[in-house]
Amino acid sequence: MRFGINTLDDVEVKGKTVLCRVDINQPVDKAAGKLKDTTRIEACIPTLRELSDKGAKLVLMAHQGSDIEYKNFYTTEPHAKELARFLGREVKFIDDVCGPAAREAIKALKSGEILLLDNVRFVSEEQTLFETKLLLSHEEQAKTLLVRKLAPLGDIYVCDAFAAAHRDQPSLCGFEELLPSAMGRLFEEEFCVISGLMEKPDRPCVFVLGGAKINDAFLMMTTVLSGGIADTVLTGGLVGEVLLWADGKDIGEEARAFIKKEGYENLVDTGKELLTKYREKIVMPGDFAVVQDGKRVEYSLGTIPPGALILDIGSESAKKYQEAIRSAKTVFVNGPMGVFEEAPTEAGTKMVWEALGDTKAYTVIGGGDSITATKKYNKTGLINYICTGGGALIRFLTGEELPVVKALRHGSKIKAKK
Ligand code: ADP
Ligand code: MG
Repeated sequence: MRFGINTLDDVEVKGKTVLCRVDINQPVDKAAGKLKDTTRIEACIPTLRELSDKGAKLVLMAHQGSDIEYKNFYTTEPHAKELARFLGREVKFIDDVCGPAAREAIKALKSGEILLLDNVRFVSEEQTLFETKLLLSHEEQAKTLLVRKLAPLGDIYVCDAFAAAHRDQPSLCGFEELLPSAMGRLFEEEFCVISGLMEKPDRPCVFVLGGAKINDAFLMMTTVLSGGIADTVLTGGLVGEVLLWADGKDIGEEARAFIKKEGYENLVDTGKELLTKYREKIVMPGDFAVVQDGKRVEYSLGTIPPGALILDIGSESAKKYQEAIRSAKTVFVNGPMGVFEEAPTEAGTKMVWEALGDTKAYTVIGGGDSITATKKYNKTGLINYICTGGGALIRFLTGEELPVVKALRHGSKIKAKK
């Protein structure tokens, strides 16, 4: 038991049917029917291996793609192949979620065998639109089709989907009403790392926040500054630009128009408040890179020519950030410094990631594109912890009890049938 939740040490799974929710949502190459990345698949392998080794009949539930971006919905069939490859054992797949075919396949499982069900979001109850419109309680989620059909076949529910722990959906929060529950090893590890970071980070504790999806970054910045967790926040990407705008600096008409187009103009006011309260802890870039005639050109703040769009922090700022990262004891990163996918605008991100690789600080990285950057610059083995959960991590950092954590605490009190 940790954090009021059973771990795999607390449940007896031999010969039992274990319904296990994982988060193996990955970018998919639909034309080739293959996954473009396997970070999350690899991350849940220890839990699956342990459950299978201990003799569980293991049923995996997972989602792929979001209904908000409906076009990336996809079957989990390629995931079964990747899971099998990393586990070195068979992983069965059934193209059904909770209908008769899925239930027959579950009943046919033998001790140690693994079955992956199809994308749970093919069931409407699992969709985010459903979640956010209907706001079902966990008791109500226990009465959804998915839980009603599958829970009677299961003995234990295990959740290893920390990356989805901020979601309030039946496959994540409904089974814990009915079955003895536990968190998997990945969930446990991520929970430990993140709560340790929140409670007493080694200081100085530096947050590096950038990227282009910046609502979360601002939420996180507010939390870690008001909670006294961050000693310094280094900013890049749109985060830095919005803060400079809030500070009355001229980032150029192009950048302002881009920020408006992305819908982040409202964050300028948040930025003003943050600067009023925590100015001495917030570091903003002082130079930038733009692309002219296909080449990188750097300008210091205030000299960006009309028509030029900021696409990276400049090398002076990047050097300053490197120093701060190298003299820190804890560094947390979410979001790249610029458009690192393109050669002329990758230098800022590349330099920051170099420092992440060689600092003695404890380093944590979260966020999909930040993980991509970590791979691109070959730093994966040098980062202390790569968190699979972006959204969950941010919600965790704001201090609220995540829906799945709440559900698991409830399910941890249910006794196993003999
Ligand atoms: P993460 O997935 O790590 O949380 P985000 O999704 O927030 O990161 O942002 C990543 C994206 O931000 C990258 O694809 C990168 O190209 C883009 N980006 C970074 N800086 C800028 C910038 N100044 N202007 C436009 N896009 C940017
Ligand atoms: Mg981000």
